[in-house]
Amino acid sequence: MSASLVAGPIAALVEATTRGGHSPRAMVDAALAAMDAAHVGPEGLNAVLWRDDAEARAEADRLSAAPPAHDAPLLGVPIVVKDNIATTILPTSCGSRLLDGYVSPFEATAVTRLRHAGAVIVGKANMDEFAMGSSTEHSAFGPTRNPVDPSRVPGGSSGGSAAAVASGAVRVALGSDTGGSVRQPAAYCGIVGVKPTYGRVSRHGLVAFGSSLDQIGVLARSIDDAARVMDVIAGHDPHDATSLVAPLASCREALTARLDGVVIGVPSEYFTDALDPVIRDRCERALDALRVLGATTREVHLPHTGLAIPVYYIVAPAEASSNLARFDGIRYGQRRVPPGGGLTELYETTRSAGFGPEVTRRILLGTYVLSAGYYDAYYRRAQAVRQRIRDDFVRVFASGVHALFTPTAPTVAFPFGAKADPYEMYLSDIYTVTANLAGVPALSLPIGRVGGLPVGGQLLTAHGDETTMFRVAGALEALLGEEAHR
Ligand code: GLN
Repeated sequence: MSASLVAGPIAALVEATTRGGHSPRAMVDAALAAMDAAHVGPEGLNAVLWRDDAEARAEADRLSAAPPAHDAPLLGVPIVVKDNIATTILPTSCGSRLLDGYVSPFEATAVTRLRHAGAVIVGKANMDEFAMGSSTEHSAFGPTRNPVDPSRVPGGSSGGSAAAVASGAVRVALGSDTGGSVRQPAAYCGIVGVKPTYGRVSRHGLVAFGSSLDQIGVLARSIDDAARVMDVIAGHDPHDATSLVAPLASCREALTARLDGVVIGVPSEYFTDALDPVIRDRCERALDALRVLGATTREVHLPHTGLAIPVYYIVAPAEASSNLARFDGIRYGQRRVPPGGGLTELYETTRSAGFGPEVTRRILLGTYVLSAGYYDAYYRRAQAVRQRIRDDFVRVFASGVHALFTPTAPTVAFPFGAKADPYEMYLSDIYTVTANLAGVPALSLPIGRVGGLPVGGQLLTAHGDETTMFRVAGALEALLGEEAHR
């Protein structure tokens, strides 16, 4: 098994395991060697927190000895999973001291579906603690480095997943996206990141951050790879009450070469002075490419875009403060017993020692906006504005626009420590939080580089319309070709 095969597209990899005479075991061995070569562990990129190579090999051996009788579209594909998605073999720490060593007794539905399709989990990826952050600098296990430039952040919070894929160690990884955590690190690392429609992929087994915003997403090297993984993990799940019932047509089969008749909206609110001019330039080039493909582009307006960051930083912390109440030292993870203290003291010492500063800030903020006296002024008002942000999208997609094109992030990957002010960090999500607030699907793909650093372009489509999003992304990726990485 050559290392180049495991680095190639999933289509070729699966062809090799199903018809080419290569076993899933050989594929997993090659991936484990590639992870070593890329130094994905703590001494290098610090992208992968937990590995159990013996277990990964044993799983691959089981698949090699008895290939599944059913269709296995990911047979032998090695996959890395973000550490807030439950697996029963490896720990699920959420990048937090509080859950250090915690192993879930059950498996996330998305992981079960991947394994059923023949994929093998080879590691759990580093992340900002409880997925709160935009740089993976908030992990209790130390920051992840960007493989493109190790002096810079990989983005976040799914920075470990993005770095594992961008390093060449694996072709695909799962992440989670509450306000941009799949798309923004994908942009910073020069890969593809997909946030599906809210409810498209089951959240069962995803440790909750902001439940009305959270979605499991895919980080991949190509649109075709991402589409293949989406086709496996999407679909209704009775374990998740918010899971969409309507089935998703194949994303992979939606890929076409031309975009004649497709109308692309360009929202002027995403192209303001906050945008780095060199990123704007790469976006213009991508829009030219879309026109060459037969699409028409038109300026559109999403007037409530400017309110998205304040609304998100009320809604997400409010939900987080409630979701994280369960980490009390009794039921999960680490317990700190204070000398001579009672139950309240146990909660206090466990939570004070277990949560890092960003998580603590969010819990305090969330508790504040939900408290009597402030609920109406902050939380209720934020919900009302959220509805207007949603309405903006509904209106623009009802006006004959099939997809929107925007930058993914206002800047390229920044150096470690560059955004010490939390509010500055929050502004990295200015173009991504809207899709979570509205529940619509969004995807980031590489559209060029600036000074060697990757730039991402974002495509958004109407609620439930992943297929148009993949269609436009696939055609754009094919036309840009190597230019997307220059
Ligand atoms: N960066 C955003 C935040 O800190 C989004 C995080 C996410 O999508 N998980 O909340």
